[in-house]
Amino acid sequence: MNKTYLLPNSTIGIIGGGQLGRMMALSAKAMGYRVIVLDPTIDSPCGQVCDEQIIAEYDDVEALRELAVKADVVTYEFENVDNGALAKIEDMVKVPQGSELLSITQDRILEKAYLESVNINIAPYAVVVDKDDILEQSKSIGYPAVLKTARGGYDGKGQIVLRSVEDVDAASELLKYGSCVLEAFIPFEKEVSVIVARNASGQIETFPVSENVHQNNILHTSVVPANLDRDIHEEARAIAVKLAEVLQLEGVLAVEMFVTTSGALYVNELAPRPHNSGHYTIEACNISQFTQHIRAIVGLPLLKPELVRPAVMINILGQHVAGVNEQMGDYSRWYVHYYGKKEAKVDRKMGHITILANDPNAVLIDLEETKIWE
Ligand code: AMP
Repeated sequence: MNKTYLLPNSTIGIIGGGQLGRMMALSAKAMGYRVIVLDPTIDSPCGQVCDEQIIAEYDDVEALRELAVKADVVTYEFENVDNGALAKIEDMVKVPQGSELLSITQDRILEKAYLESVNINIAPYAVVVDKDDILEQSKSIGYPAVLKTARGGYDGKGQIVLRSVEDVDAASELLKYGSCVLEAFIPFEKEVSVIVARNASGQIETFPVSENVHQNNILHTSVVPANLDRDIHEEARAIAVKLAEVLQLEGVLAVEMFVTTSGALYVNELAPRPHNSGHYTIEACNISQFTQHIRAIVGLPLLKPELVRPAVMINILGQHVAGVNEQMGDYSRWYVHYYGKKEAKVDRKMGHITILANDPNAVLIDLEETKIWE
């Protein structure tokens, strides 16, 4: 029989050897696939758990070709893969997420233009290339505003909040990294995200909405279900479904949104891959975002995600490792994940903890009492 899905023992190639690749690989291994990762670091988080590593830069076309020859399907775990290099292997191997989705999501200018073109609500913005542009555009955008580099930013790197015209001089320093977007600061009440999956047959499934708190622009906690009115849950999920459809997504996509006090939703960012705010799915749902991603890219039907129990996910950054290691023996309900990174640098994502509980607020209070995350 001619199967449209990849059978176990087929090989999945992953570009990027970080924690997202690692958790994708663990899901793929559980399903019986072979996994090869391409990453410049020896013994990367993903390299530690997969069958083979190709040690090379993400834009090394020869290495990407080697991956394409060895793998039956290729996926990526982050957006800063060189899309030109990736496009060169698309005729050699199936790359379900595609280089086009990558080019849209790795450039804020293209991403915003795309979101506007499909009528998704986003913060008012303008593309700026010099200081005069900022001065001119801020007349209509107003203050506070946020200046963000078009490319290369993550975890809040490459962005500055402008409170008044006096901040323009300092902020325009960002322009030396290239064109930027200046966008209105949204006085959000909550930040939420939805992970949506779609496969080549057009089946689409969303995970429950997660409510996210950032500290220093880095995700700190996710609480699920998000504490929102039912219609906002539905609207957030509908936005994610619409994006999966128009993008003809294959794999998972994370859609980050702001919610204002009046209940308006603004899409802030897209990530064409599993996302930190979806880690809770490993224990809290009947299927994780990683397994769903693998099912989508190998052509299997998707599972309908169900929240088995409410959950809190908290990130372990470098500065939290000592405290977590000291106290994890005292908490039998902590599902502790570490990513196998050697050096616990400040603000580096080293792992995360998920806790299942009917009362997420009580969990947040318990976590505060550990004083690990002060
Ligand atoms: P980003 O890199 O775009 O995901 O931004 C990182 C974080 O900065 C977001 O999660 C928000 O907390 C904050 N932020 C970014 N853009 C805005 C905005 N336009 N208004 C308010 N907060 C923002």
